[in-house]
Amino acid sequence: MKTSFYSYSLPELRALFEAQGLSATGAAKLYHWRYKHRAPASGNELSKATQSYLQENMSFELPEIDRVQEAGDRTVKFLFRLADGKKVETVLIPSNRKYGICLSSQVGCAMKCSFCHTGLQGLSRNLETHEIVGQLLGAQRWLSEQRPGKDRIATVVFMGQGEPLHNFDSVRRACEIFLSQHGLSFASDKVTISTAGYLPGLVRWKAEMPGVNIALSLHAVEMKKRDELIPINARFPLDEVLAQIDQIPRNRKRFVIYEYLLAKGFNDSVEDAEALGEKLKGKKAFVNLIPFNPYPGAKYERPTEEEARAFKAVLDEHGIPTLIRFTKGTDILAACGQLNSKPPTG
Ligand code: SAH
Repeated sequence: MKTSFYSYSLPELRALFEAQGLSATGAAKLYHWRYKHRAPASGNELSKATQSYLQENMSFELPEIDRVQEAGDRTVKFLFRLADGKKVETVLIPSNRKYGICLSSQVGCAMKCSFCHTGLQGLSRNLETHEIVGQLLGAQRWLSEQRPGKDRIATVVFMGQGEPLHNFDSVRRACEIFLSQHGLSFASDKVTISTAGYLPGLVRWKAEMPGVNIALSLHAVEMKKRDELIPINARFPLDEVLAQIDQIPRNRKRFVIYEYLLAKGFNDSVEDAEALGEKLKGKKAFVNLIPFNPYPGAKYERPTEEEARAFKAVLDEHGIPTLIRFTKGTDILAACGQLNSKPPTG
């Protein structure tokens, strides 16, 4: 069976070439062509032996685009079909003339967060590295064709379907490919992994993850409320998660962002905001407030803009830089927590 080129970091590709008795500089050339020029290496760049090895053993296929939805605000949602027929969603979020891309890390998700549309799906399987990188390359190709000249993807967030740290190896390798100078060359503060607080992944992060941003879905300070929102809080309590994040050395994390979902009448009171301010005291924290994004059948409600601003005002008093994430792409269910790649039932 052929393996996908897009699953190899450059050091791994070099090692593979060497093990096959092929020139290691060929690996770097191939990498450069595929990622920088987005094309096969031309003419006689690669030796005959390398070319025939690639032909027999490597695939350069990208996930197929099954459906594209474009929102009024230029947000684009892709449904990608993977080789085994399973499907995942990816979202391009416009900002000025550029885009951020929101990637999925799993088909479905095992975390069962009570407010998240993907959580309802359950976990089907992990994505392979090439299926993660392939989402970015597939979206990039579509942009270059459909919106030429305005097609730059400037930031990457793992905030699509799945819990990225529950699929640690593939996500880590995808990040290495994104950051590689010879690959996609993203700066390390342009890549963010969002986690519900999957502690085993944070423990590994400390020694293994390249230095990208961490976003923690904090969502409630009071344990009962957090247990309801994020069931894994019972196994991996917030305080242990926060302590583990603090222990990750500087070179392995750029910025730490604390995400806080605002669900009307549940965790959005001034007292909740005070508790959050206290919890983050002394940390170099950024807070992203995410007003709940509704979907059919959801059990929470979205607070009004004034309510969200009142929550933010408390954090301002605590001196914590805070952004309210006013959502894009809601008309196509492309916002946080609205992704669900199963066809609607009933
Ligand atoms: N599994 C990762 C990525 C999830 S999506 C994580 O848990 O962090 C990115 C963010 O959107 C998370 O903070 C998640 O809690 C939040 N989210 C999920 N569903 C939402 C919804 N319906 N409305 C608003 N935010 C939601």
